[in-house]
Amino acid sequence: MTINDPLSTLPLIKPLQESRLAHLGIVTIFDLLLHFPSRYEDYSQTLPLDQAAPGMQATFAGTLTQFSVQRSFKQRMLLTSATLTDESGSIRLIWFNQKFVGQVLSQGMEIRVSGKVTEDRQGLVLTSPAFERATRDATHTARLVPVYPETSGITSKYLRYLIAIIFKKLDTIPDPLPEKLIEKLHLPSLHRALFDIHFPKNEEVSLIAKKRFAFDEMFLLQLKTLEMRALYQGAHATPIPPRRSDMQSFIASLPFTLTRAQDAAAAAILSDLALDRPMNRLLNGDVGSGKTAVAALALHAVSLSGHQSALLAPTEVLARQHFESLSRLFAHTHFQIALYTKNYQLLDGEKVSKKTLLSALAAGMPSIVIGTHALLQDKVSFRSLALIIVDEQHRFGVSQRARLQEESFRSDDGQLESVPHFLAMTATPIPRTLSLACFGNLDISLLNEMPKNRKPIITRIARNHADRTKIEDFIRQEITKGRQAFIIFPLIETSLALKDVKAAVAEHETLEKEIFPDLRIGLIHGKMKSQEKEVVMKAFQERAFDILVATSVVEVGIDIPNASVIVIEEADRFGLSQLHQFRGRVGRGDHQSYCFLIPGEHASLENARLEALEKSSDGFHIAETDLALRGPGSFFGTRQSGLPDVAMESLTNLKLISLARSEAETLLTADPSLERHPLIRHSLARFTTRVHME
Ligand code: ADP
Ligand code: MG
Repeated sequence: MTINDPLSTLPLIKPLQESRLAHLGIVTIFDLLLHFPSRYEDYSQTLPLDQAAPGMQATFAGTLTQFSVQRSFKQRMLLTSATLTDESGSIRLIWFNQKFVGQVLSQGMEIRVSGKVTEDRQGLVLTSPAFERATRDATHTARLVPVYPETSGITSKYLRYLIAIIFKKLDTIPDPLPEKLIEKLHLPSLHRALFDIHFPKNEEVSLIAKKRFAFDEMFLLQLKTLEMRALYQGAHATPIPPRRSDMQSFIASLPFTLTRAQDAAAAAILSDLALDRPMNRLLNGDVGSGKTAVAALALHAVSLSGHQSALLAPTEVLARQHFESLSRLFAHTHFQIALYTKNYQLLDGEKVSKKTLLSALAAGMPSIVIGTHALLQDKVSFRSLALIIVDEQHRFGVSQRARLQEESFRSDDGQLESVPHFLAMTATPIPRTLSLACFGNLDISLLNEMPKNRKPIITRIARNHADRTKIEDFIRQEITKGRQAFIIFPLIETSLALKDVKAAVAEHETLEKEIFPDLRIGLIHGKMKSQEKEVVMKAFQERAFDILVATSVVEVGIDIPNASVIVIEEADRFGLSQLHQFRGRVGRGDHQSYCFLIPGEHASLENARLEALEKSSDGFHIAETDLALRGPGSFFGTRQSGLPDVAMESLTNLKLISLARSEAETLLTADPSLERHPLIRHSLARFTTRVHME
């Protein structure tokens, strides 16, 4: 048996189970071995029966001195009961409705059982214990027993059974990592690590195995990163020569003075653009730090040189907003700006058909096109696309981004001809360790400075019902002053989306009828069509509403400078960075702004996370805290990154990341196309299809 064999080579694998496993993406023996336990139960201690006591979890070994299977008529229940006896004593065992127990066990057998001891009127008992013949190797009992993530129809017991067989039948698993490297890093071999992660002798061994997998993932991530970097560095891009005086007059035309951080980022971008190899840069900045203005400078430079640029936004609302703010910044120039979304295209301020806009872009007419995913999906072609900017870049997967940058620029022989310059912008600041791990292929510019004269947002946690009333009064005051307010009902997961939408809809009604009957209250949520959303956003921008009730659709970048209050309900359900992002919806104008965090009903009163937000307005600081408190998962939202848990944890491990990075560099220097490391090349291909972090 080898690791690439299909599961059907295993004995006792039935089509039903095979298809259930296939559903989990488990098709080959190797896939199954990579299905790691989520935890272990410690049954490693085998105890004499006279030591059994209620509440203890342990393994016992003995003879089945009594065994019977009964069916209770009333309850239609199958009851299997037995007595297990060793030299020191005995204990009762019962199983409910488990037909196979009666088929496998019988009186006189020697078995081991593992489970939790409880006590009922008849004495000590083990209910539904795991068991196996005493002559067998310990798989289900008498060890750290692996427990796998629950899936319908696939029990942990069944998986343990299959995996135990695999290790008996399998030849040695070839290790992609060079032996020298494994030795140098004191890591276990792949075979050893796989065995130990499923069947560890003790906890320490399982941790060492995990370390190996964490290294593997980080190593692949760095290889991928370096490979992409090399690909783009080797490619040709259109150099955009700086035109300082035009640039200066454009900067002078902006309605504000650039911050030092904006200046520095713009300078780095402009010098990248001047080269004939593609820029690959991440603009890592806090909410409200003014990323759009920096993007505008890059767009301006490219437009001046007569080439085209595309700016991608994650939602239609945001694309529309970028379109409007950039149109304002570029109003005095002669550059044409277009908008391209699924249902809506604008050219020269006019709504046009897709076809019209497509042919205009192909003819090189609009200098700048702002769009959504549709721009990727529709295979838009340009006459001369020199720059791509992606806003809120974590929303776009690796593959999409690669496709965007590569596909339309391959010549017929598959070589990269001329690749556009690439600038990514974050939605919220990303901590250093994470950016190093995940964006190692990008140069990074930090916008860690806020525009001057910006008043920090005053943040308060509502601690009781009286606070809520105060908040309502406060909202009313602000609205009387001419301000507007957001009330956020966060949308957590897709499975809960409907419920949350209902909550927002119901809450909107309550607010409208009972709390603020005299005010105008709008509603926006994720289940609305994008055109409907746009109508609502526009109305809010034009002050047709005083209050906007929203689910998390407002999370990203919406700019309503007149809004001065944001209330976030169920705030404890969110990551800090996300809350910080919500909070950034206000404080965008000249008005002192306020953020009220209302914890959910069941939230504990002591909430370190919310308090961190009350104390700090520094997005980078908050991001570091969030990373420490919640781990990297919080930065990638509910969407699966594709990285296993063992690797997620190590995204914060600077030492491991640096190690993986330097080893990946060494390997690629010696063997740039991984010709001499086919197994690594293969793992890397698997990795690429699996991970969507960037
Ligand atoms: P983000 O980085 O979150 O995308 P934006 O680019 O939307 O931030 O900028 C937030 C607000 O700050 C906008 O209204 C913008 O006009 C304003 N702004 C940007 N740069 C400056 C600056 N240097 N001085 C004052 N206001 C600025
Ligand atoms: Mg923005």
